Amino acid sequence: MGAQLKLYNTATRVVTDFKPLQPGKVGIYLCGATVQAPPHIGHVRSGINFDILRRWLVASGYEVTFIRNVTDIEDKILHKAAHENLPWWAVAQKYERAFTEAYAALNVLPPTCEPRATGHITQMIELMQLLIDNGSAYAPGNGDVYLEVRKLNSYLTLSNQKLDDLQPAEDADLTYKKDPRDFALWKAAKPGDPSWPTPWGAGRPGWHLECSAMAHAYLGESFDIHGGGLDLIFPHHENEIAQSVSAGWGFANIWMHNAWVTTSGEKMSKSLGNSLQVTEILKQVRGIELRWYLGSAHYRSMLEFSFEALEEAAVNFRRIEGFLKRATDLLGSTPDGIIPPGFAEAMNEDLAVPAALAVIAEILRNGNTALSANDKAGVRTAASQIRGALTILGCDPFDSNFTSAEKSDEKVLDGLVSLALEQRAAARARKDFAAADEIRDQIAVLGVVIEDTAQGTRWSIG
Ligand SMILES: [Zn+2]
Repeated sequence: MGAQLKLYNTATRVVTDFKPLQPGKVGIYLCGATVQAPPHIGHVRSGINFDILRRWLVASGYEVTFIRNVTDIEDKILHKAAHENLPWWAVAQKYERAFTEAYAALNVLPPTCEPRATGHITQMIELMQLLIDNGSAYAPGNGDVYLEVRKLNSYLTLSNQKLDDLQPAEDADLTYKKDPRDFALWKAAKPGDPSWPTPWGAGRPGWHLECSAMAHAYLGESFDIHGGGLDLIFPHHENEIAQSVSAGWGFANIWMHNAWVTTSGEKMSKSLGNSLQVTEILKQVRGIELRWYLGSAHYRSMLEFSFEALEEAAVNFRRIEGFLKRATDLLGSTPDGIIPPGFAEAMNEDLAVPAALAVIAEILRNGNTALSANDKAGVRTAASQIRGALTILGCDPFDSNFTSAEKSDEKVLDGLVSLALEQRAAARARKDFAAADEIRDQIAVLGVVIEDTAQGTRWSIG
């Protein structure tokens, strides 16, 4: 692209030139889901924001290794398992799949690797051993292992707090902790809970330890970008840093955090979260429209959710899509995407998507003017620039991820209507006209119009 990408680093609180540790390569670790409930739009916003970053880095010529983990062992999963009366691992698998499906519906590219925490217990034990050996951590004999935070001068610099101002953790039990603010790397097994053996007793990993061990396993001691939602800065990311730096690792060079989806100015509440589940919203708008909406705000700005704003974004997106379709009709084929310079400039400024969208709007105006004037060259330029920009935002309507999803919906619909029509034909064949009419009436209620013709029965959505 030529121009220099600048990114905001939470650790330094300034926007600076992005310089990868290794020329031409970028390693990213994004904290993935704790798989204990179906994803709502707040969860997937993070996936979309970092997918845009990844696509922009690739378009800028970088080879990107993108790691997004799955936290498949955690207190919340155990609570949910008791509630749903399922084994904890079945709960984790069920919701991991729900997340995978939501990411796919929203065209979030699959990560290079998607490690599960339970698959990396060995690396977690190795990290604890290293931290105990170098005096950063201690195992007081109750089966827990703690990190001694006072020994680390840089602790709390990411969240800009002072250790003396820090409130002790909720589970602070001074029988075993040297300092109430020391946090657990490993938690001793409780009766009935899953556990893994360690030299210090059986138990399970703390959430923070999981991410340090997995980031290190896939990206090495030092890597370029660590991402996550704003709420992860403290304690999760502070504690990841504490563990990793105590281990002698450089760890993340840049910390990036996406803001929340809010309702009434607050982080989405759990009760509202149910109605804002991705599968629920996708009954109202298409995946590409929801992605367009969630990706439209700057990743560091809160996105205040409303159905009106979602609908408005969907309508705006359909205008762009309509132009691309008309352009394709006029030109006889869909022009390949090229990235408009103004769009690139905006993206290089810490992924300034709102400014990038203004560039798209301007090109769309020019494109529509060119369409009315039957100016093929003008239409071609606008269409390829819009397509190039939409590809970075993950919203290219010609992307096979979207078109194949729509095709598979069509296939299912076609199969179901055909099945009903076959049942109707069978009823008629056995002269059960009441049943045949009943089937016809029921499909009519769903808005499917049936037409009996000499060539057989045709259907359409009326
Ligand atoms: Zn994490």
